[in-house]
Amino acid sequence: MRELIRRLSETHSLTLEEYERLITGRDEESAKILRALSVRVRRDFYGNDIYIRGLIEVSNICRNDCYYCGIRRGNSRCERYRLSHDEILACADEGYRLGFRTFVLQGGEDLYFNDERLGGIIRGIKSKYPDCAVTLSLGERSRESYKFLRSCGADRYLLRHETADSGHYAKLHPAEMSYDNRMKCLRDLRELGYQVGCGFMVGSPFQTSRNLAEDLKFIEEFRPEMCGIGPFIPHKDTPFGNYHAGIVELTCYLLSVIRLIHPAVLLPSTTALGTIDPLGREKGIMSGANVLMPNLSPVSVRKKYELYDNKICTGEESAQCRECLSRRMRKIGYEIVTCRGDFKR
Ligand code: SAH
Repeated sequence: MRELIRRLSETHSLTLEEYERLITGRDEESAKILRALSVRVRRDFYGNDIYIRGLIEVSNICRNDCYYCGIRRGNSRCERYRLSHDEILACADEGYRLGFRTFVLQGGEDLYFNDERLGGIIRGIKSKYPDCAVTLSLGERSRESYKFLRSCGADRYLLRHETADSGHYAKLHPAEMSYDNRMKCLRDLRELGYQVGCGFMVGSPFQTSRNLAEDLKFIEEFRPEMCGIGPFIPHKDTPFGNYHAGIVELTCYLLSVIRLIHPAVLLPSTTALGTIDPLGREKGIMSGANVLMPNLSPVSVRKKYELYDNKICTGEESAQCRECLSRRMRKIGYEIVTCRGDFKR
């Protein structure tokens, strides 16, 4: 293990088999070494700074039916909503006041948000706040659409690949969705000049260590600017409602590994991690993550954007979340900073 870790940290690359061994052979000692190395390289790039992204959950209406997701089309118990142009801009106003310089528009694949409407929202935010980055996380769209939204000012796009194994992908999604299209979208986004984020859930149903090794290999090769990983957490009204949640320890271990594969990557310590462990986000940061994505959505809709059960921070105002996170980060020696927080080349 020591030899594998040494080689990973020096060459930023291992074979698929080696990644798999790194996962199956992990123990407290290897986790500790990986943590120390990853915290050190993260410091070289980003110091003690933690970047924040204001997450605006624009709609929970979705045409897709992903088996793991609480806002899937088939969940008839989900109470649907979508925010208006003005409501989204009001979230950005509040966020700007609180020191956010990146806004992430995330939502289900809601056809109401066609190019014209979305373009208007992006332009609205960028003209009012030219010093801010706009990130989209709105699922699969056509290359033309991605191109148009980029021309309206969108800077970044988050589209988790979910799993880099097409067989596993087919077990998490209905037949009408395809691994190939997901990957095509990621390539299109990259070619159009977005900063791109991929990512996956840890402990999703049917996931093997081999699958995780494939995810790591994919990240090594694709070299995304951002990478979102968090534990799978069941949602009671989905086909995976009775499966086990992913584990904190493995999620943090993988955060460290990803930091070593790709030292400059922007790596969030996710809300899902904070949901399965009250100190999950702190643990993520101490394992090599450097980004937090607190919620800026109106409190009235937060509970409805429930991708998984018991999601945290659905009752607090944005200002409270911002305060709480600053305090938590300071306590472990990090500082939330007010800046766009771009990827460092
Ligand atoms: N519709 C957009 C946004 C999806 S929500 C898209 O397709 O990209 C953002 C991420 O939440 C998903 O990519 C998925 O990885 C994660 N997610 C969904 N359901 C989850 C669950 N039950 N547990 C943990 N993460 C989940």
